[in-house]
Amino acid sequence: MTARTVFLFGAWTLAPDKEPDAEPITYAMQCAVCGETSAADEDAGQAQNWTFQHAGRNPSHHTYRELIIRPWRAWMRA
Ligand SMILES: [Zn+2]
Repeated sequence: MTARTVFLFGAWTLAPDKEPDAEPITYAMQCAVCGETSAADEDAGQAQNWTFQHAGRNPSHHTYRELIIRPWRAWMRA
């Protein structure tokens, strides 16, 4: 999964950052009914647990969005 584009000022490549010092991929869940969002966590299961708690407190909230934050890196080819 990479993207390439050429601008006036150079050729850039963009790809998911898999370097050892990359930010972690994190997962959160957002209620599509009220917009409340769980904490972001590297463990998707934590976000899913939040969904069960939220649905328990709000029995009419049945639809959710998964929010995935994935680090990317852009660099210019020499
Ligand atoms: Zn809700």
